[in-house]
Parts: sequence; C-alpha cells; structure tokens
Amino acid sequence: MAHPVPDPIATPSDDTIIHEILPVGMLQCNCSVIGDPQTREALVVDPGDEADKILAILAKHRLTVKAIVSTHAHIDHVGGLRKMQQATGAPVLMHGDDMELYRHLDVQAAWIGLRAPDPAEVDKLLREGDTLRWGRFEASVLHTPGHTPGSISLYLAPQKNNNVASDAAKLFAGDTLFAGSIGRTDLWGGSLEKILRSIHQKLMVLPDETIVYPGHGGVTTIGQERAANPFLELPHPGRHS
Ligand SMILES: [Zn+2]
Ligand SMILES: [Zn+2]
Repeated sequence: MAHPVPDPIATPSDDTIIHEILPVGMLQCNCSVIGDPQTREALVVDPGDEADKILAILAKHRLTVKAIVSTHAHIDHVGGLRKMQQATGAPVLMHGDDMELYRHLDVQAAWIGLRAPDPAEVDKLLREGDTLRWGRFEASVLHTPGHTPGSISLYLAPQKNNNVASDAAKLFAGDTLFAGSIGRTDLWGGSLEKILRSIHQKLMVLPDETIVYPGHGGVTTIGQERAANPFLELPHPGRHS
C-alpha cells in the first residue's frame, strides 16, 4: 500500500446536519453522506466506489439511508450503487437521460481499464423539479445536461427556523461545475453548449453564498465561481444580444 487512504474530509457535522464527503475510487469521486442528526435519515450522493467505506460512515453516525442518488451515470459516480443498494435496501435514483450510459458500464470500464461493476436496479428516474425528502431536509433536482445528457445537480435549500452558521444552501453539482472549472464535454453525449446553458440558467441563478460540492476536488461557492470561473466567460446561448 504505497498510498495511505485519506480520511474523509472534515465537514460540519453538528446538531443541525451531518455531512461527510468521502473521495472514493481511482478517480476520487466525492461521495456525500447528508444526514439529519435528529431523525437519523440520510441521503447518499454519488457512491462511485468503496461502498464499505461509505457504509462505515453511515454506521458511525447510526444513519438509515432513505435514497441513493447518482448525479450522472459515469462509472466513477455509480460504481458503488449495487453494493449500497444491497446493504441498505434504499432506492437508487438517477436521471432517465443517463440510462443509456448506465446500460454501458462495460464500455465505460474499458475506457479506464477497470472491470465493470454489476449494475444496480434503478428504482426511480429523476426529472427536473423533483423533490427528494429525508429527515427535515428537502433537495430539488435540477436537470443540468452537458457533461452527460442526464446530469443533475441537487439544491438543498437552507433549513427554516434555523439561524446557525451551517445553514447555507448547498449545491451538489456532480461533474457540471467545479472550483474554477467545468465538466468535460468530449465524452459520449457531452455538449459544451448544453453545459454552459445549464450552468448559466440553472446554477448561476442561485444565491452567491450557496456552497457548491463538486463531483471532484474542492468545495466552492456560487459567488466565487460567478466572480472567477474562466469558463463562465465563454460565449453561450443567450449571452449575445
Ligand atoms: Zn462524469
Ligand atoms: Zn466524475
């Protein structure tokens, strides 16, 4: 073992929210466990690999998984779905426009020289405007195509009746928006025009203070990306008068 496995990134876990981010797998996809410390219900986002590590986090916080969501069907975001589904019995959700990609995990695995994981049963296809509910939390599904046809972002609005610091809105952006960058659009089904439209029309309309948790790399905010993300300067539909 040349490289020690990094500990989960320290994230605010207090009496209002439990949030742990675990970079998993060869491509270090950020898997998020978002739990309600009062009801002990959790949502798992992008269990791309290392299901055992994710399950250990759930056990540590005594959380029951209500749903397992993949922001898109690239192998690094879906590789752990089946194990998570089998271990928790929770439903697996993703956008219907990525089912084609999900049916071709073998092709994706070959791209990066891995063995294809067995697919999970997808229990529900998500669409723009759907709401996910667990514990006291609610997240809305934003369909943000471009990185893949069925890429989604999840917007977790601030909790009501709550004035603590961890109360900022959160966005789980998958591989659509990164700190200082955007998702690649050269893979199957990708479109630069669509990802720019998604980011401008669905994400840049969110409040500046929204904390963005990308599918890889560090955390950022909508305001920070609005101010300094060079890709947002690219021409996009609607930019020209
Ligand atoms: Zn991806
Ligand atoms: Zn990814």
